[in-house]
Amino acid sequence: MTQPNAFAIRAKTIIPLIREQAARGKDLYTKLPRIDNGVVLVMNGRVADIGKASQVAIPQGWECQEVDGTLIPGVINCHTHLELVHCANKTRSGQGFSAWLQSLIDQKPRSMPEDANYVKNLSQEIADLVAQGTAFVGSILTPNPSLLVLVPDIARCKGLGLHVFAECFGFGNSLPPLPPPEHQASLAGHSLYSTNLTLLQRAALYCQQHKAPFSLHLAESLDEEAMLAHGQGPLLDIFQRTILPKNWVPPFQRPLALAKALGLLTSNLLAVHCVHLTDAEIQVLGAHRCAVCLCPRSNAYIGVGAANVRALLKEQVLVCLGTDGLSSNTDLNVINEALYLKERYDIPNDALIRMLTVNASQALHCPKGYASLGTGARAVFCKLPHALTDHSY
Ligand SMILES: [Zn+2]
Repeated sequence: MTQPNAFAIRAKTIIPLIREQAARGKDLYTKLPRIDNGVVLVMNGRVADIGKASQVAIPQGWECQEVDGTLIPGVINCHTHLELVHCANKTRSGQGFSAWLQSLIDQKPRSMPEDANYVKNLSQEIADLVAQGTAFVGSILTPNPSLLVLVPDIARCKGLGLHVFAECFGFGNSLPPLPPPEHQASLAGHSLYSTNLTLLQRAALYCQQHKAPFSLHLAESLDEEAMLAHGQGPLLDIFQRTILPKNWVPPFQRPLALAKALGLLTSNLLAVHCVHLTDAEIQVLGAHRCAVCLCPRSNAYIGVGAANVRALLKEQVLVCLGTDGLSSNTDLNVINEALYLKERYDIPNDALIRMLTVNASQALHCPKGYASLGTGARAVFCKLPHALTDHSY
């Protein structure tokens, strides 16, 4: 929707998250300040003023939108693969990781950025995200030079904040190219089983030196565990048929232990999935102040099990949420991950709101203006679905 340059929003409740910090462990559950009968004034895409309706006057002639519900800053999806829009409804669901991966590999490669239909779908997907209240996304991109220009350009044009994770994948020795320098970017490693371990270390070091997040799919499936810790299983079969070097030797370590041995467990790490971790391993992630991005609907789609959400929330892990790509989810609206967790674990709303905003902002090193509705913040808003609103308000 095209917004006028200056307008007001009047909402039943606003959770402005002004000066709110990321939270871990029990701090996730402290009550967030609310403004009842709140007003936000917006000018040129930024918040010009915010407060109670009795304190903030709406200038004469300004259009005023009424919101019958709770408004929070635009939410942040910490892990997706925007480029995989063409994989929607085309992968195997519910049969485990290796079956899903094989169905992804079986799809015909296509020259995506040159395909007008692909570009149209990608633009529409990104526009929908913004319309649904997503302000910022962390997206993995493969090192295709055209995609590294196309995706950030579309995101910018549609008003979606973006952190590009240029992905290291395979057993070569070169770090992937980054998007043009005007875009926020750092590196990701695909995983411990699919990527040269020395390259993962170099990529993680690069991110540390640049004070930027390093993303890694970690402990997503039991197939991953079987391949790394035991040198067997269906995932090993797939990789032996495709990219695994003949001289590859299993590390005979569980994923978390291997990541630790490689020095990847730092406060810059954004570990994605973390489904198959023991309580002791989760404590190790917390002790290293790592961020963990939960993608519960993707895990359910593929059929890899469910993360130990309660244990992750208890430790000093920075928990945030992501949808993963349309190759393993039905949509990219991260609010639906929060609803999924609410339904299954009855997590308090304020903890989920922090995961969607301040925690995610810290995990992706978002620039100022996100995850807050203070003066000067970006005017992207998310109206919470009823299940995530506090019914006492
Ligand atoms: Zn992913």
